[in-house]
Formats: sequence, structure tokens, C-alpha cells
Amino acid sequence: MLRKIRILLAAFTFIVLTLLFLDFTGTIHLWLGWMAKIQFLPALLAVNAGVVAALVLLTLLFGRIYCSVICPLGILQDLISWFAGRGQKKPCFRFQKAHTVMRFSFLVLFIVLLAAGFGQIAALIAPYSTFGRIVGTLLNPIYAWGNNCLAYLAERVGSYAFYRVDVWVKGTVTLLVASLTLMILAFSAANHGRLWCNAVCPIGTLLGLVSRFAFFKPVFDLEKCNGCGICSRKCKAECINPALHQIDLSRCVACYDCVEACRQKAISIGLYSKTAQEVPTETSKEAEK
Ligand code: SF4
Ligand code: SF4
Ligand code: SF4
Repeated sequence: MLRKIRILLAAFTFIVLTLLFLDFTGTIHLWLGWMAKIQFLPALLAVNAGVVAALVLLTLLFGRIYCSVICPLGILQDLISWFAGRGQKKPCFRFQKAHTVMRFSFLVLFIVLLAAGFGQIAALIAPYSTFGRIVGTLLNPIYAWGNNCLAYLAERVGSYAFYRVDVWVKGTVTLLVASLTLMILAFSAANHGRLWCNAVCPIGTLLGLVSRFAFFKPVFDLEKCNGCGICSRKCKAECINPALHQIDLSRCVACYDCVEACRQKAISIGLYSKTAQEVPTETSKEAEK
């Protein structure tokens, strides 16, 4: 149920934010422009304290919900990941150690670049800018061209429901940067799900500092768990260690795939549980040897 709600919300966000970057009529901005204002980094840079405080509180309560239903770049990775795994009956991920040095290096570099006034370079890894660059550069010309085709067909039957617009193709450097970013994202998402989110994205690292103290989070029920590891293979953040019954909450993107995947109903969203996190089991003892 939680996963279905997450998917519905994510689909809505993704469609609206994509259209916001494509819309040339201004209609979508008029009604749904506020969705751009609840993006973490734009809100932070605009010193929109209310939005930033609300997003931090949301993360403190439910973990990185922001990364599963509000950030379009995260949802894009889920889509790529889903397409890449389509047709595979078996889940394809497995637990990986955290890339702690890399993710904090990117965070520090990002802050330094912003502080030094190199915002355009920092934007290369800023999630909303990255998504906007991909959509605005690679999809916009196709969207405008499709609109012009419709306008042509409509004119032939005497309708003026559509009108033609100029098709703009961005410069070579912007095209190269957008294409390269999409290729890196696609490779990373197809093979390791949310690797970009947990190794590169500075906002993911920032939110991870908060989400490790999240109130509601995935927790194990050791009495029900049979150690099959399916939850770990379904985890797009590759942050479930089934042998030790541990979940790295700083990397968990609150997708709830693990909750739905467990046939024993041994993972649920709940409060911190000592039993779930700290009691050593036979499997964990073997893993430690
Ligand atoms: S980690 Fe960054 S790119 Fe990934 S979903 Fe979160 S904010 Fe978006
Ligand atoms: S929590 Fe569920 S899916 Fe994960 S190892 Fe235990 S029984 Fe298997
Ligand atoms: S631990 Fe569960 S909720 Fe968190 S990212 Fe992995 S599958 Fe999703």
C-alpha cells in the first residue's frame, strides 16, 4: 500500500515537473509552478526557510521521502532502473558498502564551489538543475517539434487548437553536458539503482545526515525473518545487509520496495527497535567469523 502511494505521488511529481520545463504556454506554471519551489536546493538558495524546515522535518519523520516522491532526478533514476530490469523476474541489486569518502567529498566540493561563486559548475551535480538541463536540452526540441506537427495537422482540418512555436536546439557544449550526464545517470541507475543519489548528489548526502535519525523507518522483525535476502536484492539503494539485519538509513530512499518484497512480512515501517537492529543472530555470527 505504502509503495503504491509512493509510486502514484512520484508519477504525479515527475509528469508535472517535466511539463514545467517543457511548457511554453505558461498554463502549467500558473497552476503547478509551486512544485518547483518545494525543491530542496532552489528553496535553500532562495532562503525559503519555511520550505527547507518542512523538508527537513519530513526527513526527520519519514526518512528520505523527498528522494522518492519529490525530486524528479531520483524518480528518473527509478524509471531507468525499472526499464533496465524489465522482464527480469528476479530482483537485481545487492548490498554494497557506503561510498562515504566520495559522497562527502562531493558535498564539500559543492559547497566550496557555491561559496566561491562557481554556481554553474556546482549545478552540474545539483539535482534539480541536472534534471532541468536534461529535459530542457534533450526533450524540449522534440516536444516543440511534436507540437508543430499537431499544429500542422490541426490547421489542415481548420482547427487552431495548436499553434506553431520556434524549435530551439541548445549549443554544442550544453548538448554534450546534458547527454553525458544522462548517459552516466542511465549507466549508474541501470546497474546500481540509486548509486548517484548515494555517491554523488550533495542533497542526498545532506538529507542522509538527517534520515539516519528518522522516526519512522524500515525495521526488521527477527522472529519472522528467514534470512532469504530478497529485501536486499530489491533495495535500489543497495543499503540492506541481510546477514547482519542492518539497514543504512542514511542511504535508504524510503521507497518501501523491501516492505512489499518480503514474503514473511518481516520488514515494516516502524520506530527504532533494539531487537530488530542489535540482537545478533546465527546468520550474523557466521557473517562476522
Ligand atoms: S539524492 Fe539527490 S538526486 Fe537523488 S533523489 Fe535525492 S535529491 Fe534527488
Ligand atoms: S526481511 Fe524478509 S525478505 Fe528480508 S531476509 Fe528477512 S525474510 Fe527475507
Ligand atoms: S531499505 Fe527498503 S525502503 Fe529503503 S531504499 Fe532499500 S528497499 Fe527502499
